[in-house]
Amino acid sequence: MKNLNCRNCGGPMVIDPSGTTAHCPYCKTDYVLDHRDTDYYREFHARMRSFFSLSADGQERRRRADELWAQADREVFDCADGKQINVTHLHRFSLPLMTAYAARQSVIFRFEEAQAALSDKYRRAVSLLDYPSADTRNLSRFFPVISGGFALKDGGVLLAVKKSEDEYPLRLFGKLSGRHTAWLVGRMENLCCVMEYSSIVHPEFGIDSLYIDPYEHQASLYGGWWSAVRNHTTVNGRILTTRDNLYALRETAAKVLGFSSAAAAKETDDIPKPFADFLKSEPESNAYDDFAKWDDTLIRSYGERKFITMDTDDAQIYGKGT
Ligand SMILES: [Zn+2]
Repeated sequence: MKNLNCRNCGGPMVIDPSGTTAHCPYCKTDYVLDHRDTDYYREFHARMRSFFSLSADGQERRRRADELWAQADREVFDCADGKQINVTHLHRFSLPLMTAYAARQSVIFRFEEAQAALSDKYRRAVSLLDYPSADTRNLSRFFPVISGGFALKDGGVLLAVKKSEDEYPLRLFGKLSGRHTAWLVGRMENLCCVMEYSSIVHPEFGIDSLYIDPYEHQASLYGGWWSAVRNHTTVNGRILTTRDNLYALRETAAKVLGFSSAAAAKETDDIPKPFADFLKSEPESNAYDDFAKWDDTLIRSYGERKFITMDTDDAQIYGKGT
């Protein structure tokens, strides 16, 4: 996906899920995109969302992925030991702290020399993750496995985290329908339950830290771990708790639905009232109860839980054969 740079400071901008506005994380300027760019992003997002409707046909998946990767950008990094690392990436997400590259089978985080300690913070936070002894859902699959770290010639650091080839940054999918956001909320509740169990608060939980598998309807939390802290840690004078993860979940869902914030969520033709009310609601005191609340919301919103694919309408889901 192409990058747009800020006209004010030159920094790479973050495109809103609607494809109409962009934000510069460096100088905090907001822009309204011109029609040409909006068309480009909307088309790109729609193409990514078309993956939701692909059947289990592995060949078709490979073909579409190859097509996508044929347009990927490449960046070469010089290591301190003289070697070079080629990173072919579909998407680059930059913050003043770091740049994350979505490569085919990994996410590569690049920290500048001044921020090199963040790589260690990332590793430490991930090592705090704990799973119930009977992790029957294999939840560990949805959290980072570090595959390597590299010292760069310029003093920076690269950190490589494994991901499956079918996982893509949530940001690439743009705006999602109510039904697609619904499965995403369920998966995010799962992630929040693991963090609850591990007593971890993840202040960067959101569109740019989540990666989704559009075929299996799964979500993984790979980004932002350098900011993660233990429950009840004071950061900038504020006590962070695992309930903050649940607020972030609501903000994330609201944003991919096209709302400016969770507080702005409202009932529409696509979003049933119980769903909108859930987004606006205060989280329960812990993720387990919040997940139960979501399950109830889901039933009140859409009836019995169904596995849905994109471009499927109500008639197809609840009609013949069900
Ligand atoms: Zn800027």
